[in-house]
Amino acid sequence: MTQLGHYDSIIIGAGHNGLVCAAYLARAGQRVLLLEASDSVGGLASSREFHPGFKAPVAHSVNHFSKSIAVELGLKAHGLVIDVGSVPCVGLSPEGKHVFLNGAELRGVSDDEREAYARYSRQLQRFARALEPFWLKTIPRIGPNKLGDMLTFGHMGLNLRRLGKADLREFLRVFSLPMRDLMDENFDSDILKSLLSWDGLIGSKMAPRSPNNAVLTLLYRMVGTTMSGGVGALVSALEAAATAAGAEIRTDARVQRIRVSGSASGLRATGVELGNGEVFEADWVVSSADPQTTFLSLIGVENLEIDFTNRIKRLRCKGYVAKLHLALNSSPTFGGIEDSGGRMIIAPDLDSIEFAFDDAKYGRWSEHPVMEITLPSVHDASLAPPDQHVLSAHVMFVPYDLQGGWNEATRDALSERIIDTIERYAPGIRQTVVGRELLTPADLEHAFGVTGGHWHHTEMALDQMLMMRPTYEAAQYATPIPGLYLCGAGCHPGGDLTGAPGHNAAHEILK
Ligand SMILES: Cc1cc2nc3c(=O)[nH]c(=O)nc-3n(C[C@H](O)[C@H](O)[C@H](O)COP(=O)(O)OP(=O)(O)OC[C@H]3O[C@@H](n4cnc5c(N)ncnc54)[C@H](O)[C@@H]3O)c2cc1C
Repeated sequence: MTQLGHYDSIIIGAGHNGLVCAAYLARAGQRVLLLEASDSVGGLASSREFHPGFKAPVAHSVNHFSKSIAVELGLKAHGLVIDVGSVPCVGLSPEGKHVFLNGAELRGVSDDEREAYARYSRQLQRFARALEPFWLKTIPRIGPNKLGDMLTFGHMGLNLRRLGKADLREFLRVFSLPMRDLMDENFDSDILKSLLSWDGLIGSKMAPRSPNNAVLTLLYRMVGTTMSGGVGALVSALEAAATAAGAEIRTDARVQRIRVSGSASGLRATGVELGNGEVFEADWVVSSADPQTTFLSLIGVENLEIDFTNRIKRLRCKGYVAKLHLALNSSPTFGGIEDSGGRMIIAPDLDSIEFAFDDAKYGRWSEHPVMEITLPSVHDASLAPPDQHVLSAHVMFVPYDLQGGWNEATRDALSERIIDTIERYAPGIRQTVVGRELLTPADLEHAFGVTGGHWHHTEMALDQMLMMRPTYEAAQYATPIPGLYLCGAGCHPGGDLTGAPGHNAAHEILK
């Protein structure tokens, strides 16, 4: 074993949250080392070559990154233009009767429906703004509270109270309403209902009829900012911000163990050990790896209390989203769409989403897959050769545990089914495909070191959110092992490209 120096903080994983956390800690004067297992930074937001000359990021839209983090970290100075307006979104119709949504502007539906949307969207925005401050705060624990915790609870209550009686009643009624009910109450158009539900459902194990927190997830995704250049530009800017602040980043540096010292009654994290035997010591070890990886693999159950271990083992971490990348030798034409730079949703009605979910529940993929498509090369020309394009599709619901298991044949069959589905909306696209890659949740687990290949590291359901994320004992970024903190998507407020967990963890450490 080679002892290689002492840091204030060592961060495990240079996904976007690890980068955000490193940037804040380094800006506060800490000596920070960021260790990343793979050969590049970005984690689930990194871009990699899937066909010679063609690259794609796993996450393909940056539409609710925290604006205050972008400003505080000076991402503008590192090439990002923030607040570039909303990302246009189209609900594709097989008959060409598409529904177009761009911020407040809605086209392709009746005047009545447009008015209903204006009312609905104003109300949801009021709810989203009331909750917004709490995504960037540590959620207080239930139990003896410090003054800061009481203030957070007070602020939360006040913000909700400020909604006024009518809105507050409505908020309490709808936040756990199945998406289907919310849509049916407000709209008639099938495509519009699918389009507006999408952000409540994507990435989760929830369908339109599932009770739980799809509406809360939708509100979570209604705040934040969009920025120019796509996912690649965000990751480059975060890397530059962390490095400029003085953080040291090492790739190809897989942490094998988090080192602890002391007795069972008083363990403390003291550093990390890499696969090659190198050892680094630190006052704080901060993990952006998912909670199961952090505790079950890197700490080890022998160092954990049994009830906590069981809670970590019980986390629901099996992903439900697959990713298809297509290398196209020309620009695809989706009938009736002039600007294909936004998100395109294939889900003709809410039942199509529900039935795809039903298949996945029983370990099958759907014969009628529902998906979100983007063309990331429209915003980032470096992803494909000149005049050629990358198509990126998030396919809901594809089970981690496929009946009979995943192999080349099942992957090929699903890829073919997805391409057939896209072909209905973009006739001729099949002839332009020169390369492809399908990443099932099991492949995402293998390629990106995320348990279950889960979009949010662990399901964002009410029992795994707020002061229960990932568990009661580790919901304030500190963990039962003193000196060990969490800073990834598995902690509050959750997954997506927001930067919030990395920001909140850094603030807890700096306290
Ligand atoms: C298919 C898919 C599509 C998505 N699309 C979108 C989207 O369009 N928009 C959006 O906002 N969100 C999207 N998401 C969600 C989003 O990408 C994630 O929630 C987010 O990237 C998580 O960031 P993170 O930094 O917390 O974790 P990660 O990005 O998972 O980073 C963790 C890092 O830790 C590293 N690591 C793990 N173990 C070790 C170890 N032992 N030693 C060293 N390093 C280690 C990993 O290599 C990784 O780089 C998508 C997710 C998936 C799966």
